[in-house]
Amino acid sequence: MQTFKGIAVSPGIVVGRVFVLDDQRRRIPKRLVKAEQVAVEHDRLWKSLGESIAELNGLRESTRRQLGDEAAKIFQFHIGMLSDASLTHPMHERIDREKITAEYAVYTGFEDLLRKFSKMADPSFQTKVDDIRDLSARVIKHLIGEHKGRLDTMASGVVVARDLTPSQTAGFDRRHVQAFTTDLGGRTSHTAIFARALGIPAVVGVGNITEFAIDDAPIIIDGDRGVVVVDPDQATLDEYEGFSEARQTLAISLHEFTGLPSITSDGTPIQLLGNIEIPEEITQVIKAGGEGVGLYRTEFLYLVDNIEPSEADHYEAYRRAVELSAGRPLTIRTMDLGADKATQERAENPERNPFLGLRSIRYCLQNLPMFKTQLRAILRASSLGPIKIMFPLVTNVSELRQGKYLLNDVMEDLEDEGLAFDRKVEVGMMVEVPSAAIMASTFARECAFFSIGTNDLVQYTLAVDRINERVANMYNPAHPAVLKLVRDVVRAARRYTIPVSCCGESAGDPEYALLLIGLGLRTLSATPSSIPGLKRVVRKVTVQQCERIAQKAISLDSDVAATAYLRDQARKIIPELVDGRSGER
Ligand code: PEP
Ligand code: MG
Repeated sequence: MQTFKGIAVSPGIVVGRVFVLDDQRRRIPKRLVKAEQVAVEHDRLWKSLGESIAELNGLRESTRRQLGDEAAKIFQFHIGMLSDASLTHPMHERIDREKITAEYAVYTGFEDLLRKFSKMADPSFQTKVDDIRDLSARVIKHLIGEHKGRLDTMASGVVVARDLTPSQTAGFDRRHVQAFTTDLGGRTSHTAIFARALGIPAVVGVGNITEFAIDDAPIIIDGDRGVVVVDPDQATLDEYEGFSEARQTLAISLHEFTGLPSITSDGTPIQLLGNIEIPEEITQVIKAGGEGVGLYRTEFLYLVDNIEPSEADHYEAYRRAVELSAGRPLTIRTMDLGADKATQERAENPERNPFLGLRSIRYCLQNLPMFKTQLRAILRASSLGPIKIMFPLVTNVSELRQGKYLLNDVMEDLEDEGLAFDRKVEVGMMVEVPSAAIMASTFARECAFFSIGTNDLVQYTLAVDRINERVANMYNPAHPAVLKLVRDVVRAARRYTIPVSCCGESAGDPEYALLLIGLGLRTLSATPSSIPGLKRVVRKVTVQQCERIAQKAISLDSDVAATAYLRDQARKIIPELVDGRSGER
């Protein structure tokens, strides 16, 4: 039995069997196989080499036809290498000796060759380095492609991977993927957010789980505490059975709150809304006792199929969202692509610093036809029921103005075409970069509402990458610097009498909710599954109590002190929601 500690990102406990998902774009982790699996790995290696050679033969022929013999020679060199026993024999030997996967044998075999080539004095060998990388990727692609196919056909399993992109996670089928765990990742990565949306328990940032987990081995994923246990013994299985029962009892007790109003014990209403990625989640928001949708992340439309959705695709999603909302609030955020979402995976030249790069509203403003397509669809859907439009990652007033200008443009087009829309649709913005928070008063004069996105605000204020497990301990929304920004944004919104909400992941954390209420927020938008817990908090506290907590936390000199203080207060006020969840969050 081996126990690993990671970051709990999607709640739930699952006992299942390992399914290792490798990805050829990343470093291939060393994974061991059982003795009886060794013959299978030899076969897989033969097969992938054979398939790669066949593929290269095809490429050689088509290149010869189009560009002539000389150009086709490069493929002859590739075929020669893959047929050379001095390369492939050591790969087979390694499988026998170290009991490793064919992927790892191929990866290390080519890495050895690369090292040899790069040491050679003759510069013509240096130019072969790219060819070797290319070949390595080709063979691994055949191995992994075959493996990936199994994910669709397996009954169900727990995915173990070095990392997962948001698109991979968005594409998971709940029937096959019971839970997942990754070596890399952080709590507010979009991979984590999608896991929560799909209700798939997950633990990320585990470090080196891929080196230890073997296909089909029993595994426990504890998405509440951030623990992964490979090959658990009976006592551990029994312990987890107990945890599962306790969480069910808590869920039942929280369910009692779903129908009750969200009002503090001294009578202040706190509006609880849901964050969604797909329209169908609105049903969960309502079931959980939410009053509507505070954040609809529309990127999901792009991530599932990895193709650009048409206006009809957009419209259908928004029409459905309006229908399911049935008159309740619905805030649709325009596309927040870039950073860890989609654009880098497809880019020929990925950005060096994608979180500081062409993402979100910046990306939209440079891809106007794509942006306009979405705006048209949202506006058309606004004729069916109440919708608010929100722009993400606004950093400069000019972006807000350009967004609104474009929206007007689209309105005129729709008018010319005789298509219905709500002319008075409200346009707001996310406050998720320090510049917007610091200049909140300026922005408040030009938009209808604010929603504070702490996921990014924390990242940009503290200079801590939200998806990097190595600095996850520094990613802390309770940092007094973040609290001061939140306080100032709320004050600016009040001064200009525009509504303000918080829709970062921390809004769903019962402890943090105490702080947000204390800082003046009266609308919180969170993952649907966290709404019952939030309602419990709201009904238990007074605004004064929260204000005292916020005042004290904001005056402390570090995030560590603020977190310890907050934890201590939360333990006193809402012990049932704090104790028993000792994992990193
Ligand atoms: C945020 O940054 O807090 C937010 C809600 O947006 P996202 O998590 O989609 O970046
Ligand atoms: Mg954001």
